[in-house]
Amino acid sequence: MSTVKNNIQDIQAKIKKAAESSGRKAEEVNLVAVSKRQPDERIQAALDAGQRIFGENRVQEAYDHWADRKTYAGLKIHLIGPLQTNKVKEAVALFDCIETVDRPKLARALANEMSEQDRVLPCFIQVNTGEEAQKSGVHPDDLPDFLDYCRRHCGLIIAGLMCIPPVDEPAVLHFALLKKLADIHGLKELSMGMSADFEKAIPLGATYVRVGSALFGERV
Ligand SMILES: *Cc1c(COP(=O)(O)O)cnc(C)c1O
Repeated sequence: MSTVKNNIQDIQAKIKKAAESSGRKAEEVNLVAVSKRQPDERIQAALDAGQRIFGENRVQEAYDHWADRKTYAGLKIHLIGPLQTNKVKEAVALFDCIETVDRPKLARALANEMSEQDRVLPCFIQVNTGEEAQKSGVHPDDLPDFLDYCRRHCGLIIAGLMCIPPVDEPAVLHFALLKKLADIHGLKELSMGMSADFEKAIPLGATYVRVGSALFGERV
């Protein structure tokens, strides 16, 4: 069995355990395989093992990995990195979900481009839960207004919230905050938890965990 296939089974078993021990169902938690900076043969091995949701953080690299593989049934590619408005056209054409909506100009550009291409992509709002100056995402205090702008003014479908906790703080505090914000606004989906902490994100309500190195091995 390939290492990647082994890793996927291992991660799925951990997801199941974390879900069931917190009174949730394993099916409520989706595994996003983060394929950025991974060699082609590992990506192919994940596809061959049945993995169908993948995350990429750059538009051009996502094209290199996925343009020729879009024919796989059920394949969903999520954008999990920052998006510049000049790349929105390519992003809407390739991705199936944008997890990093974080400013009005981007929300507007995405909405315009989706109607242009007649494609509807569910979106997540990225929340800067750590209020870090260098990190993208909306400030938690700005979420209500921004959510309203995305929905009412742009007509975007906001499925949920996404966060990347600060490296030097306990991730669980940020997962709990994101869950609280999602509950306040009636949002169902929560994208949180990576290789090091996805098992901790599940009891706090994660419905998407984004796992890269633990699934594929170290990035090249
Ligand atoms: C790279 C990346 C991941 C995966 O990180 P690992 O620690 O390798 O699991 C998850 N989310 C985002 C936004 C990333 O950029």
